[in-house]
Amino acid sequence: MSELLREYRRKRNLLSTSEPGGSRRSRRAKEPIFVVQRHDARRLHYDFRLERDGALASWAVPKGVPLEPGQQHLAVHVEDHPLEYASFEGEIPKGNYGAGTVEIWDSGTYELVDEKRDGGLTVRLHGNRLDGTWALVPANLDGDPKNWLIIRKREDGTSTPAKRAEYRPMLATLASALPTSEGWLFEVKWDGFRAIGRVSGGDASLTSRNGNDLTGRFQNVAKELAKAVKTPDCVVDGEVCALDEQGRSSFSAMQQGKPGTPIVYYVF
Ligand code: MN
Repeated sequence: MSELLREYRRKRNLLSTSEPGGSRRSRRAKEPIFVVQRHDARRLHYDFRLERDGALASWAVPKGVPLEPGQQHLAVHVEDHPLEYASFEGEIPKGNYGAGTVEIWDSGTYELVDEKRDGGLTVRLHGNRLDGTWALVPANLDGDPKNWLIIRKREDGTSTPAKRAEYRPMLATLASALPTSEGWLFEVKWDGFRAIGRVSGGDASLTSRNGNDLTGRFQNVAKELAKAVKTPDCVVDGEVCALDEQGRSSFSAMQQGKPGTPIVYYVF
């Protein structure tokens, strides 16, 4: 058992959590594996793990793995986890270390591209969501050796960051007759503010169809959206509505902004 796996066991009471104990021998496979687990603990974060020397080298990434080339996020180096942890999903009960919900956000194999003397790694990931090259750099942020950076590398070696894509709401078009062919769904016309929701590094913003920022006005919606989508980066199209007592969207209730009126966000 590695020194760091001892640390893993020391932190846990393995009788009161379903997390693996790390007793099994290391598996034999050609390609080493990686996993990213969404860990909804006291603080939501993503755990990034690489198979290294029969265990999982691990980093806690509060804002999720950066997706845009050139982007970098804090990655807090934590204790090695046993290899079996790569398939762990579920509830860590209250009172245990890391209590909360663990879900696998992505997994796959990786190639080690480079290993630096200071421990820094460059890896090429082959997952469902993550496909490309990332560097893990022991940046020693704030003088703490645990504070590494995870950096999305550019594949082609150019230095221009990818242009941020613009999104507009998908609006209805007028038609004289209902479509009758297969593949159509009909839904209620919600009466509120159409808003593009953008989640980036775990923070959500809302933008109206005219490009106005609605984040401040609907702070709770933005906060809940970031948690509901279960991913740190995405764009969704939806409508912010105020509901009346019957659960119907009411534009006047929204404009009056009566306290206690439930505000919801329907995603299309
Ligand atoms: Mn964690």
